[in-house]
Amino acid sequence: MPSQITNIVLHHSATDQLPIESVLDGINNSHKKRGFPKGSMNLHVGYHYLIDLNGRVLQTRNDSDIGAHCREEKMNYKSLGICLIGNFEQHHLTERQEKALVDLLTRLIKKYNIDIEAIKPHNNYKSTACSGANFIGRLDIILGQCKDIGLNVKYADWQIEAKEFAIKNELIKNWDQLPFSVEQTIWIAQVLKNYTNFIENKNK
Ligand SMILES: [Zn+2]
Repeated sequence: MPSQITNIVLHHSATDQLPIESVLDGINNSHKKRGFPKGSMNLHVGYHYLIDLNGRVLQTRNDSDIGAHCREEKMNYKSLGICLIGNFEQHHLTERQEKALVDLLTRLIKKYNIDIEAIKPHNNYKSTACSGANFIGRLDIILGQCKDIGLNVKYADWQIEAKEFAIKNELIKNWDQLPFSVEQTIWIAQVLKNYTNFIENKNK
């Protein structure tokens, strides 16, 4: 059993972007062949969680099981491995897939008090394309959403005011699905607020 879960390592399956049922056996067999020990859920899958294109999450190892997904820096002993099904050198995460990841990460961050900085793609530890350039390129945004939902980030007064202003005036919709991180969006809100004030003063 890992002494303490301090990290999360993100992977991709490097397969087509398919539902869990279509890839589970394949991943399990390939990990069995590679000699990965069975976890307490009776699977050889080295990751703790799989997330498919429909946003379905399957736990394949108990959190307390040692992983078999990242040997470097003893990550198997102190991290949870999450594998997103697809090849993100080629595809992009689906909206549902990304939402499921944000929800799962948020839950795990809270449960184990994991530092956002300790959530990294596989290639942070090893020379590999995993978890795919399109996924890695989106990671800041994903982690920004985790922060906003899950962690009581202390925002400065001006940030709270800018956000409330933008929501009240419907300048930015869908705060739970932002194209930028929350911090970046708050900056945009502040600019919109300044601009609105500027126009109002001009028209006086
Ligand atoms: Zn990997």
